[in-house]
Amino acid sequence: MSRIFREGLTAEELESLFSSDDACLEFLADLKWSAGFTCRKCGNTNSCPGKAPHSRRCTKCKSEESATTGTIFHHCKFPVSKAFYIAYHVCKGKEDLSSYELARRLSLRQMTCWNFKTKTMQALDHMSDLTANEKSAIERMLR
Ligand SMILES: [Zn+2]
Repeated sequence: MSRIFREGLTAEELESLFSSDDACLEFLADLKWSAGFTCRKCGNTNSCPGKAPHSRRCTKCKSEESATTGTIFHHCKFPVSKAFYIAYHVCKGKEDLSSYELARRLSLRQMTCWNFKTKTMQALDHMSDLTANEKSAIERMLR
């Protein structure tokens, strides 16, 4: 998750992430299993594609793991591409978008944006490997 804002994503890459759920899931899956797959249930390292887009299924115990499992995007009730947009802006912190502004841009309810923004900030709060800039951006928003 922390790599989402460390990667130097180009404007085009961001644009495709913010406009496509599939691109977001692919991006998450790439990050998540970049060092290979390990089953969360049995530890097996062999997998085949699961039913859901960009998910993996353990070849031993057959449990399926989605690209969002273990990330802040898990159980997200609105499109993951919109969640990406919020998370990115919280992480980058260049412009402090209010939940009202996010709601307007994404056509979501203000409360939905507020909740996800808070969730992202809490997740960031628990990361020890942030740079000073990223930390201060988060602190600014918590005020
Ligand atoms: Zn397994």
